[in-house]
Amino acid sequence: MFETLSDRLTSVFSSLRSKGRLSDADIDATCREIRIALLEADVALPVVRDFVSHVKERARGAEVSQALNPAQQVVKIVNDELVQILGGETRRLRYAKTPPTVIMLAGLQGAGKTTLAGKLARWLREQGHAPMLVAADLQRPNAVQQLQVVGERAQAAVYAPEPGNGVGDPVAVARDSIEQARRRQHDIVIIDTAGRLGIDQELMRQAADIRDAVSPDEVLFVVDAMIGQDAVTTAQAFMDGVGFDGVVLTKLDGDARGGAALSVRHITGRPIMFASTGEKLEDFDAFHPDRMASRILDMGDILTLIEQAQRTFDEQEAAKMAGKLVSGDGFTLDDFLEQMMMVRKMGPLKNLLGMMPGMGQMRDQLNQVDERDLDRVAAIIRSMTPGERQDPKIINGSRRARIARGSGVTVTEVAGLVTRFFDAQKMMKQVAGGMGIPGMPGGRK
Ligand code: GDP
Repeated sequence: MFETLSDRLTSVFSSLRSKGRLSDADIDATCREIRIALLEADVALPVVRDFVSHVKERARGAEVSQALNPAQQVVKIVNDELVQILGGETRRLRYAKTPPTVIMLAGLQGAGKTTLAGKLARWLREQGHAPMLVAADLQRPNAVQQLQVVGERAQAAVYAPEPGNGVGDPVAVARDSIEQARRRQHDIVIIDTAGRLGIDQELMRQAADIRDAVSPDEVLFVVDAMIGQDAVTTAQAFMDGVGFDGVVLTKLDGDARGGAALSVRHITGRPIMFASTGEKLEDFDAFHPDRMASRILDMGDILTLIEQAQRTFDEQEAAKMAGKLVSGDGFTLDDFLEQMMMVRKMGPLKNLLGMMPGMGQMRDQLNQVDERDLDRVAAIIRSMTPGERQDPKIINGSRRARIARGSGVTVTEVAGLVTRFFDAQKMMKQVAGGMGIPGMPGGRK
C-alpha cells in the first residue's frame, strides 16, 4: 500500500537533501512535486489543496530557515501533516459503561464487513474480551453461513436467526442479540449488517433502523480502499444516511495508491480506527496515523514490528533465544531453524521486511521474497542428523548428498545453506561484540 506515494515523496526529498539553504523557489518546487504525488495517489482534491498549503506555509517559516538541516525539517513537516491528515492521535474503541458494548458495521456489499467482523472478534478476544457476532445481513444468500464460518475461525460465538425462518427481520435479530449477549455474558456485540453493491435508500434505511433499535456505542463504516475516489463518495453517503463514528479501511494490501486513507478522515471528519491488510484473520490491526505516516515516508514502522514480535513470542521463548544468540558458538542449526520458525509465526516475511526503515527502496527485491525458500531451508535442516545440526563442520561431500536427497534439493543448495549459517554465526559474534555485550568475545568484560 502507498507504494506510489512513498516512492514519489522519497524522491522529492532526496533531491532536496543536496541543498543547504532552501529558497522560496525550492520550496515552491517541492510543494508542486508533493501535490503531484498526492494527486497520483488518488487523494481527493480538497485534501490535496489543504495539505500542500499547510506544508508551504510552515516550510516558508522560521522552523525551516533557521534549521540546521532544512531538508530534514521539510521531511518532518510533511510527516506532521501526514499524521494530521490521517487523523492525528490513534482513536481507540469506546467501551460501554455497562456491557455489552455494541459495535455496528455498515458499508457496501463486498467491502469486507463479514471478514472484518471475524477479525475484530479475534482481535478483541486476544485482549480478553468475549465478543459475540450477530448476523443481521439477511439479504445476501449465504451471508449468515459466512459469518458462522468466520466466527468459528475467530473462536467467537455467533447469533443468527434459525435457518428456515424465512427472510427474517434484521432489526429484530439485532435487537434480540443484545439481550442474548447479556444473558450469555458477552461483553461485546458486533453486528454485521447487509450491504448493497451500490448506495441505495433501502439499504440506508435498514441500517438506520438497526442503529435506532440497538443504539450502538460505535458505528463503523467499512470501506474497500481499492475503490479509490469512490470511497469518498460512499463515505459521504453513509455519513448522511446512517452516520458513523469511525472508519475501517479494508484491502489496503491491494491498494498501491492509498488515496482513500488520506481523504476519508478529512472529508468526513471521522477517524480511521482499523485497517485490514489481507484475507486472513490476522491481517488486521488498529490504525495508527503516526506509524502509517512513517511508513509512507519510508521511515519504517518499528513500533508495529516490535508489537507483533511481543504478541507472537512469549517472553521466555524470546529470552532463551537471546541467550543463545549472545553465547555465540553455542548457536547451532537447530537454533537457526527454531529462530526461523519464530520469525515465520510473525507473518508473511514480505510484510515484516516492509516495516524496516529504508525498505521501500528495495521493493523489487522484497517482492521476490519467496516464503517457500524458508520451507526449503527448514526441510534441509530437518534432513540432517542431530550431530550435523550441532556441528555443521562435519558435513562432507557424502553427507551433503544424503541431506540433498532427503530434502529434495540440490547438493549446491545444501552447501549454500551451511555457508550462510557460518556467515550468520560470524556476523552475530561481530554484532554482539560491537554492542559491547558483556561476556561476548570482543565485548565488554
Ligand atoms: P462483505 O460483503 O462486506 O461482508 O464483504 P466480505 O467480508 O464478504 O469480503 C468480500 C471479499 O473481500 C472476500 O473475498 C474477502 O476475503 C475479501 N477481503 C476482505 N477483507 C480483505 C482485505 O483486507 N484484503 C483482501 N485482499 N481481501 C479482503
